[in-house]
Amino acid sequence: MHLRKRVLVTGGSGFLGSHLCERLLGEGHEVLCVDNFFSSARANVEQLLDNRRFELIRHDVTFPLYVEVDEIYNLACPASPIHYQHDPVQTIKTCVHGAINMLGLAKRLHCRIFQASTSEVYGDPDVHPQTEEYWGHVNPNGIRSCYDEGKRCAEALFFSYWRQSKLPIKVGRIFNTYGPKMHPNDGRVISNFIVQALQGKDITIYGDGSQTRSFCYVDDLIECMVSFMASPEEFVGPMNMGNPGEFTIRELAEKVVDLTGSRSKIVCEPLPSDDPRQRRPDISLAKKMLGWEPKIKLEDGLKKTIAYFDSQLKEGSHTA
Ligand code: NAD
Ligand code: UDP
Repeated sequence: MHLRKRVLVTGGSGFLGSHLCERLLGEGHEVLCVDNFFSSARANVEQLLDNRRFELIRHDVTFPLYVEVDEIYNLACPASPIHYQHDPVQTIKTCVHGAINMLGLAKRLHCRIFQASTSEVYGDPDVHPQTEEYWGHVNPNGIRSCYDEGKRCAEALFFSYWRQSKLPIKVGRIFNTYGPKMHPNDGRVISNFIVQALQGKDITIYGDGSQTRSFCYVDDLIECMVSFMASPEEFVGPMNMGNPGEFTIRELAEKVVDLTGSRSKIVCEPLPSDDPRQRRPDISLAKKMLGWEPKIKLEDGLKKTIAYFDSQLKEGSHTA
């Protein structure tokens, strides 16, 4: 039996946040979900509102937050390039002021705080697969910099609070994750391809499709996040979190066409600038420290995600 905790999840109504809230409630904890709905809909957490252990607050983490909790997961930040590039200044503020505010809160409460960092701290990596020791190859002023450099600054803040105030931090570098509850218009590659395939629209590969990504199913990722939070206090990261199975974007498009049985055509569109050529996590550290590794294969995860989007599109609730 474990102690019931009061857990703050910022960005709790987003894709990963809503899965995390469900998982924590399932473990018997109280969850305080904070979100300003910048890149998500309330619908993701609506079914949790009846639970007496769940509370939802509309709040922007760039402003201070005064609450009493035992643990913090800081997930607030748009994750899709179209969303984080829509208002780049707000993205930087969310990464940096959001981190400062949540770290200040954690310092007052002296509680554990997890930071949702990202594989984007490695930029367009020259080292492959990426290990935690690699410092990255990031354009400091390109169109992705609001997110990449914002997240790098957040890591610097987390480690500074750890060194200076002995704050119990956990920094996880999340690689591309997918699954149900991604927003259909989110713009990320898996949601785009599945929605396009289900609607019989052209499947839009940016560039020639030879760039690679490694895709982790959401349940595996949440398992890793929760087990990282529960790991010994000395283990602070940074730690890669993802699935090392690596695919080209063209392979992904073909798999989606195959699994949906769609008649969609695969077409090529211009590659956005600074789009990383390759990405694959080295997860030796997570395996060693947590005994964790992903279990769900891309094909199985895609099937579950396709079933989710299929039902959403039939309901018509997100098509507007
Ligand atoms: P998402 O966009 O679905 O969720 C982010 C949530 O944060 C949204 O609900 C959004 O409304 C909220 N938010 C944004 N700005 C906010 C602010 N200023 N104040 C309060 N709430 C705010 O994205 P996601 O995929 O769930 O990502 C969650 C976290 O994980 C992000 O920090 C992201 O950078 C990180 N991450 C995700 C992935 C991935 O593949 N999903 C990969 C790397 C890192
Ligand atoms: N991508 C694509 N078609 C799309 C959306 C994305 O070819 O409709 C490509 C994108 O250029 C990138 C990869 O898929 O090379 C992953 O993009 P995503 O936005 O999901 O995440 P990120 O680039 O941040 O890894």
